[in-house]
Amino acid sequence: MGARTGMHASGDNGNMAASLGEFDLIARYFTRPPRRAVLGVGDDCALLDIPPGWQLAVSTDMLVEGRHFLPGADPFKLGHKALAVNLSDLAAMGAQPLAFTLALALPAADAAWLAGFSAGLFALADAHDIELVGGDTTKGPLNVCITVMGLVRPGLALRRGGACAGDELWVSGTPGDARLALGHRRGEWTLPGDTLAALEARMDQPTPRVSLGLGLRGIATSAIDVSDGLLGDLGHVLEASGVGALLHADAIPSSAALAAQPETRRRACQLAGGDDYELLFTAPPGRHADVVAAAEAAGTPVAAIGHITATAGLTLLDAHGLSIAQHFTAFDHFRTP
Ligand code: ADP
Ligand code: MG
Repeated sequence: MGARTGMHASGDNGNMAASLGEFDLIARYFTRPPRRAVLGVGDDCALLDIPPGWQLAVSTDMLVEGRHFLPGADPFKLGHKALAVNLSDLAAMGAQPLAFTLALALPAADAAWLAGFSAGLFALADAHDIELVGGDTTKGPLNVCITVMGLVRPGLALRRGGACAGDELWVSGTPGDARLALGHRRGEWTLPGDTLAALEARMDQPTPRVSLGLGLRGIATSAIDVSDGLLGDLGHVLEASGVGALLHADAIPSSAALAAQPETRRRACQLAGGDDYELLFTAPPGRHADVVAAAEAAGTPVAAIGHITATAGLTLLDAHGLSIAQHFTAFDHFRTP
């Protein structure tokens, strides 16, 4: 970290409690032998080789207590989610995970919390063969900020701006589950006990669609991960691509729990609910079978839910082809109270 003056009068460098110091904490919970990194945790910078003929894809996502997760959140699940939301951005670019850094503000050096958090973090890191190469650790309100790095071939990254008129619009998984679970947690509605655990896992431990993103390289014309709501994130693709879309709301796959909801609630969860980290992408109709094959190879279900139009704007249709009014708004940190 940088200057440690003035603001910290505790005599411990402004960092962790004497029992478990900043450097003990980093060594114990966040240092593992380097894998591909030339130099990992422990020096002023990490050193990474980028293989010739590849580009580095870089993305950062921050999780703030009280904003992205509730105080008292399970540390194992939080470790998973903090990395998952970042891996999801690599997935949406079709990038191969390489390495990540972790900037952590902690109110206290709580050994049990750190053990749980690092276990959740490294379980997902190992599953995706991505290594922690550095970070920063400081005392403060709980805040987890991860920067991921991935590798892409020049010209093959899945960008938001590549959707073309006539492309089919696809989504992975069953978007809306995370919002359905959140509503239960907030007391907006009550879900039956037998579906709750699976839905809460969709919210607390999302699955980044990394293999699907990789499989879509050279097939998809654009992609984005659904973090703030399907309509809002689709809007980013349409804007970047200078196109419109026709979306069949009832073609969006529903989990059993979502299908059992009243239509208005189901649609609101599917169209405006955030935190699902599914991939929304476009591909030419001639690549339909290739998309299906890529999804099968990745073990991730996908569904065609509409298509891209040359005319700007989004038309939402129900199962009868009738237009649905759009009063669903995407999540925006500075607009939503
Ligand atoms: P500096 O003062 O040079 O910024 P630090 O004292 O903050 O270095 O960190 C020491 C080393 O530990 C660095 O290599 C840094 O990348 C690493 N590090 C710090 N915090 C973390 C963390 N939470 N996870 C992984 N590595 C970390
Ligand atoms: Mg530092």
